[in-house]
Amino acid sequence: MKDVFSVEGKVTIVTGGGTGIGESIAKEFARRGAPVLIASRKAEHLEPVRDAIRKEGGKCEMTVCDVRVPEQCDTMVETAVKHFGRLDVLVNNHGASIAAPSLDLSANGWRAVIGINLDGVFFCAKAAARQFMKQGGGGSIINISSTAGVHGSPTMLPYGAAKAGVINLTVSHAGEWGSHGIRVNCIAPGPIDTEGAAPRVWPNPKVKEMVAKSRALGRFGRVEEISYPCLFLASEASSYVTGALLIVDGGDAPRMG
Ligand code: NAP
Repeated sequence: MKDVFSVEGKVTIVTGGGTGIGESIAKEFARRGAPVLIASRKAEHLEPVRDAIRKEGGKCEMTVCDVRVPEQCDTMVETAVKHFGRLDVLVNNHGASIAAPSLDLSANGWRAVIGINLDGVFFCAKAAARQFMKQGGGGSIINISSTAGVHGSPTMLPYGAAKAGVINLTVSHAGEWGSHGIRVNCIAPGPIDTEGAAPRVWPNPKVKEMVAKSRALGRFGRVEEISYPCLFLASEASSYVTGALLIVDGGDAPRMG
């Protein structure tokens, strides 16, 4: 019987694939037979993940790419095609933030956060969609937003605004590219325990406990709890899902007990 949940053979790019959630996504896809290209600014983040995936028997290549630069996003897609012959899935997982009140936030700080989180998603999606169309259509784009993009964030305003933009862009791209069979979906993670997020979002144990208690499930998410929904959205099991927002936050419901 065909496994509709399979990602075997699906060539997948994971931006920000050298750390945190992106590292987990790259590893989980590779474990299930997807050839993976991981991309970000720092080779020292990418190399250990590429080597670990290869050691486990998976297929992985890496490329240095700053998603704020459109030409580098085009080259990233070309690199995946050069190594693996095609592209099937793009996971726009890269992200960055600054915690600062509005009145202290410089124009450069604002632009940097919007540039990475929103411009970067647009540039990568455009490069991937062009390749999908060249191949005759099909393909899946998964944008990693944040619950800050749903509820806002009083301490990380440009991040919340950019992530809200990612949710909106997902719907627009789904409509624009649906006739080519390209599906575009979005995941909004809640608090996931990663080294990247910790210093900004839960700077001390007291805040960390408060954040955990604010979830219906009473705990932080694990990186693989974002990877598994990505596998679903990349696979044929989600063939009628596009323009969707999947909130993966341990439950924002009031907690009893
Ligand atoms: P992370 O480890 O800091 O991951 C961010 C990744 O983005 C890094 O690998 C970084 O690699 C890459 N990156 C940053 N700027 C880039 C640029 N200009 N070009 C290319 N790559 C760039 O944090 P994480 O927690 O795993 O976050 C992963 C994603 O989940 C992000 O989109 C984040 O906003 C989202 N998210 C996380 C949480 C959470 O609680 N952890 C909650 C909601 C949403 P380089 O430094 O090598 O460039």
